[in-house]
Amino acid sequence: MALYADLHRHLGGALHPRIIYKFLQNNDHPVLNYFPDYDGFYSWFTRPCRTLEEFVKIHTLVEELQSLEHLPYFCLRLCRGAYTFENLQYMEIRYNPYFRTDKELSVQKRIGQMNEVVETIASNVRPSEYPITVKQIICLDRRLPQKINEAILKCATDNLGPVVGIDLAGPEIEPNVWEIWVKLFTKARSAGLKTTAHLGETGIENVHPQFFPVLDRIGHGIHIPLVNPPMLKELAKRQITLEVCPTSYKQTGVLQDFHKLKLVFDRCKKAGVAIAVCTDNPGRNPAPCTLPGEYERLIDHDVIDFSELKQVQSESFRSAFGYAGITRK
Ligand SMILES: [Zn+2]
Repeated sequence: MALYADLHRHLGGALHPRIIYKFLQNNDHPVLNYFPDYDGFYSWFTRPCRTLEEFVKIHTLVEELQSLEHLPYFCLRLCRGAYTFENLQYMEIRYNPYFRTDKELSVQKRIGQMNEVVETIASNVRPSEYPITVKQIICLDRRLPQKINEAILKCATDNLGPVVGIDLAGPEIEPNVWEIWVKLFTKARSAGLKTTAHLGETGIENVHPQFFPVLDRIGHGIHIPLVNPPMLKELAKRQITLEVCPTSYKQTGVLQDFHKLKLVFDRCKKAGVAIAVCTDNPGRNPAPCTLPGEYERLIDHDVIDFSELKQVQSESFRSAFGYAGITRK
């Protein structure tokens, strides 16, 4: 029985390494020269990284595999795994459409291909045997020129419906250019899109209060309660939910253990800031990394108490961008 909702999962990091490996084998991919057996690939793919930048490099490899031609293969496996092994009823999958276009084409042609990427994903995340609801969040990227990010936003707006929101992703570089992003988020909201941004994941430098009026949720944001808890008051006032992805912080080198997460949960609870527990890149974490597994880990490490679990699970439905059902009790 499907029970849960995941609001923060990257298409590039969502797939089990076995699925990626089989894909590489089926396509006789040159990367296999480095990994003649699955075990070696698995260790490399799921190893903890020292920094977020290092983590993102492997992510780029998968993004390149997920070209237009192969998206249906990955989408089907994504849906059936989430429905069958994680009991997910609802999922918001996020990705950058530009990174899935043909690299051989000109920038203009790649921009033109983005709509097709979104449409292909939309038509392949409704497999009849696995009745999970999947909505899309389109990612802007801090590494891309503004012109391309504006085109990504337009692509999201043009596909409102299957696309429910916009995100800001990529390594947390250039904290001083926040104004550009605030403008794009304002534009997104006036077009009917919901908004979230990767902020406060590796530090507090990127967390400008000017973001708060234009965001519905924050991806991670864990450094707000950890480093600048007075800011939580504003988040509570604006009903901004934090998307917290426990195992991810160990994989990206942001936290050494789960202990600090207790402080995140306790301070948010006290301030009245909602947290949705999410998986981020479950395929990149040592198996089994599932949403129910993340819930269990939080209890196991005394981050939350068992009695708080239902509330935490309901929060994901309540904070969802495109969930039209009744809020679960
Ligand atoms: Zn993320």
